[in-house]
Amino acid sequence: MADESSPIPAVRVAGLVYEYPDGRRALDGVNLTIAPGESTALVGPNGAGKSTFLLHLNGLLPGRRALGRRASPSVWIDGLDASRAGAAVRRKVGLLFQDPDDQLFSTTVLEDVAFGPLNLGMARDEARRLALECLGRVGLAEAADRPPHHLSFGERKRVCLAGVLACSPSVLVLDEPTANLDPRGRRRFMELIGSLPATRLIATHDLEMVLELCPRTVLLDAGKVVADGPSREILGDEALMEAHGLERPLSLVVGR
Ligand code: ADP
Repeated sequence: MADESSPIPAVRVAGLVYEYPDGRRALDGVNLTIAPGESTALVGPNGAGKSTFLLHLNGLLPGRRALGRRASPSVWIDGLDASRAGAAVRRKVGLLFQDPDDQLFSTTVLEDVAFGPLNLGMARDEARRLALECLGRVGLAEAADRPPHHLSFGERKRVCLAGVLACSPSVLVLDEPTANLDPRGRRRFMELIGSLPATRLIATHDLEMVLELCPRTVLLDAGKVVADGPSREILGDEALMEAHGLERPLSLVVGR
């Protein structure tokens, strides 16, 4: 039983193995526990398994075991088995994709943001009210009636974030949130993410952002966690970073 000194983890992953249908093993025994409210970065070279890992957190990929063996639970969100709890887990985990165009499909911004709450069973008026409120939180209330594809890339990212927030997730999972943003858009997006109270897991190559937003870093390579600890220690370890195809962030090299 959990007590106050050991709350139920927001995320618990135990021995997660995943092979794509072609037999490629993308995750090779990942163990990870994230406490409620923690802000954690997931870093690693291309192909390390980061995206595959994120997709397991809301049950988008089945909890399939290697070699066709029967599934056994390996991912829990707030104590719920992610491979079985379906909608209940998807409701808890807000996944922000790297490319906003993978997430936006409605004819207006407001409809897009209201889609999640409507899908969760909220009444139309209430969903629209909530969508407007969430658009306000990302500074886009005035764009509510515009088609998403008329907005800039940075604005579309913020619409997606509003859509995620509208579902009130307890865990925010962000895939490369600052990729392809200009410096002002990046700064604005970082401030938004930093202001959110949810548990956060951020997969990224933006290591300066990690230093600002994530006290903890998990380094994944070849489907395994190879390091897990304070971000400044992991990202400042030149040998470790180089061994896994990464570079220390400049601010740690020049000692800012
Ligand atoms: P990352 O997000 O860290 O770049 P991915 O999770 O995308 O890593 O990929 C992990 C491994 O899984 C890579 O070897 C990649 O080639 C492989 N992979 C990703 N998607 C598929 C797929 N749909 N089918 C087969 N292999 C895949």
